[in-house]
Amino acid sequence: MPLPMIKNYIDGEWVGSTSTTIGDVWNPVRGEKIATVAYGTADDVNMAVQAAKAAFPEWRMTPPLARARYLFRLKEAFEENFEEIARTLTTEQGKAIDEARGEVRRMIENVEHATGVTTLMCGYTLEDIAKGIDCHGHRQPMGVFAVIAPYNFPAMVPWWFLPYAIVSGNTYVVKPSEQVPMTQTRIFEIVDEVGFPEGVVNMVHGSRDVVNGLLDHPDIEGISFVGSTPTAKYIYRRCGETGKRVQALGGAKNIVTIMSDANIDQAMPSLITSYFGCSGQRCLSGSIMAPLGDKADEIVEKFVNAAKTMKIGNSLEEDVSMGPVISAAHRERVLGYIEKGIAEGATLLLDGRDCMVGEYPNGFFVGPTIFDNVTPDMTIATEEIFGPVVSIIRAKDLDEVIGVVNTRNYANASCIYTQNGAMARKYKYEVKPSMVGINIGIAAPMSFFPFGGAGNSMFGDVKGHGQEIFQFFTDTKVVIERWF
Ligand code: NAD
Repeated sequence: MPLPMIKNYIDGEWVGSTSTTIGDVWNPVRGEKIATVAYGTADDVNMAVQAAKAAFPEWRMTPPLARARYLFRLKEAFEENFEEIARTLTTEQGKAIDEARGEVRRMIENVEHATGVTTLMCGYTLEDIAKGIDCHGHRQPMGVFAVIAPYNFPAMVPWWFLPYAIVSGNTYVVKPSEQVPMTQTRIFEIVDEVGFPEGVVNMVHGSRDVVNGLLDHPDIEGISFVGSTPTAKYIYRRCGETGKRVQALGGAKNIVTIMSDANIDQAMPSLITSYFGCSGQRCLSGSIMAPLGDKADEIVEKFVNAAKTMKIGNSLEEDVSMGPVISAAHRERVLGYIEKGIAEGATLLLDGRDCMVGEYPNGFFVGPTIFDNVTPDMTIATEEIFGPVVSIIRAKDLDEVIGVVNTRNYANASCIYTQNGAMARKYKYEVKPSMVGINIGIAAPMSFFPFGGAGNSMFGDVKGHGQEIFQFFTDTKVVIERWF
């Protein structure tokens, strides 16, 4: 039987692509193809942007509360289809089903937060800036915006931006990752049922040609990008050249610091999910561990033992704690990093290379892998691996760890476990990453706080969601007036 072909959603219709380049979508647990997707063209992009542009004048005049009502309806529809979205997500992405549910919940929370548009988008006024002269700042929508998404959070990431863009009166184009197009397609079926005016939200599938079509299109006002740092840099540069607003969130190399006074047994479950959740394919994965003081050996031993108890397998099964990585190619890449760690002299405490799951011999599995005695200059301590591979760095004190944190190429997130408030304050004050956890694993800000890092983890000024996102999606028109 032929595999289903994923379609684009343009102007309120499901349409085929103009492209003849077809890619495969895989079930990473089974190592089987489950769908096909056309890698769209600049023509597909143009159709979507023209639809969004045509929808803009009417949509921007729709009162904010009326726009928000679409989101209220959407929230209810998402709740009704919650489990099915999560299962579609796990099927093509491979993360454990409970993590998929967590992702869908975070997606919905952005819809909920965006419904506060009437307060979040309000402008401001100051009377008598000079005698008889008043000044107003009006937040106005700008036109068509777009998001370019990564593969690791197929449901949530586009919704870090989309609800805020449209509720503030813009129209929108989504470009999902070509590796996981099914989840957002299912989500757009629900969007379609809710019945937004045609052209307000659109989706074009594909790869680089779609991205370049968006970057080159003169009618796109701004781009939100989430993905790897090399692509983020490219997007940032190209948006500069074409005069678009841009927020480009990139990769990460996050460090978890554990002081000897930390409550290790309480911390252990969150450490395991920080390092091995989504098989380490998260910009908020722990990647390096820095245990300090006289309990360092005990911490490492407990961590290795806990990692050994993880159940690897079919991520749709409730008791499976870790599924596969996204693809055969990515598995090879992760295995390459493990070889590199061994070659550079790190001590391999737990080896995930030969991870076989009986029923699924073709799955893209890599088991939890832990290296000890890693030095800050080793490849596995500097590059983003994006797999279930942990590098333990033995530092002498907190200052040395903070030095390691602040000399990584990335500055996305970091966290510390301690009972000592002064140490915790020093850490949160001095580390460069923008997202900091204290006695919490690498933690994701909720929809009402901004999401994004610093350094090579983020290019642009305005982060994802939070309150500031309304600045990205609006132009503040300042009106200075005097009446005689
Ligand atoms: P990626 O950069 O390969 O792809 C992201 C998007 O860019 C995809 O839609 C892809 O089609 C497109 N793309 C890829 N290469 C391109 C190119 N050369 N030209 C134009 N477009 C291109 O990233 P990925 O592998 O899908 O996702 C994993 C990366 O995303 C990791 O580095 C991870 O840390 C990062 N990420 C960051 C955050 C964050 O908030 N900072 C969140 C999730 C993922």
